[in-house]
Amino acid sequence: MSTGYVNDEIYLEHDTKDHVEGKDRLTAINTILEKTKIKEQLAPIAARAATIDEIATTHDRDYIRTLKAEIDGGGGWLDPDTYVSPKSWDAALFAAGGLMNAVDSVMNKKCENAFALVRPPGHHATRQHQMGFCLFNNVAVAARFALANYDIKRVLIVDFDVHHGNGTQDSFYTDSQVLYFSTHEYPWYPFTGRADETGARGGEGYNVNVPMEADSGDREYLRAFNEVLVPVAERYSPDLVLVSAGYDAHWKDDISNINLTTTGFARLAKIIRGISDKCCSNRLVFTLEGGYNRAALAYSVAATFEVLMGHNEVIDPFGEPPMIFTPGDPDNFIKMLRRLHGLQD
Ligand SMILES: [Zn+2]
Repeated sequence: MSTGYVNDEIYLEHDTKDHVEGKDRLTAINTILEKTKIKEQLAPIAARAATIDEIATTHDRDYIRTLKAEIDGGGGWLDPDTYVSPKSWDAALFAAGGLMNAVDSVMNKKCENAFALVRPPGHHATRQHQMGFCLFNNVAVAARFALANYDIKRVLIVDFDVHHGNGTQDSFYTDSQVLYFSTHEYPWYPFTGRADETGARGGEGYNVNVPMEADSGDREYLRAFNEVLVPVAERYSPDLVLVSAGYDAHWKDDISNINLTTTGFARLAKIIRGISDKCCSNRLVFTLEGGYNRAALAYSVAATFEVLMGHNEVIDPFGEPPMIFTPGDPDNFIKMLRRLHGLQD
């Protein structure tokens, strides 16, 4: 079975002018996937529009109506971060719908695993508001969709975008059917995502935040993934793994102060793949969130596809960051997180 990908012209029609979250992000990815001959090895998955009922599993109908009216009225800036244009409505419905089709393909074993290359991104969108370039919370809608339409009980969402996925956390904060794990720079936009935000009521213990100090890089992320994510995920034993894959933690990306490398992103993908292999016959679906340095984004997505296909080679044209400052030994931080989540020392 092959690795699937979702890619549709509609995602280029969410026209954000010269906004950092622009359509040329996807064009850059496509160019590199073609140049590296990765694309020809992938199975295309068609996109579709999400229905309003599907979106309403995650967002208030008032918000959905207001957003549609604002877009139909010509769009523009909805808040200081988020810009929409006439086609943004269709693009947003297709972003969530494309990801749901990717989930279908993997659940029905048409693909081994998949990556939805969609925009607008989703993980900041809350029940009642667009936020941080995001209109609908694609990964939250897809998790609800999977739980409603398949005989599964537990979904793991791994979010390695450099920003905390506040909207995703909120969606499942009191829910044990979805375990949300996030690594993110902290304190940084959106200023949520402290380690002690661990869930509430029935969801207590099913929200795992790993707030990363500025200047953290591959070393810190690999420790967090190996020593916190892996044991938490194996204990949870998900039936499906979804990944909010943002590449804005790359050292070349100016939007953050985290120093992951392209090779580092491939290693993280490999760890996630290991979890899905072990727990749920590799039911694994990635969806694109952030990533604003076009070249770093494109090569890191390419590296992720190589891992999804089970290949070992990674093209990393950027190498290691020039080291200006390294945070201290992450030992105590990792120990604190492990204790917080009931893992043995
Ligand atoms: Zn981000």
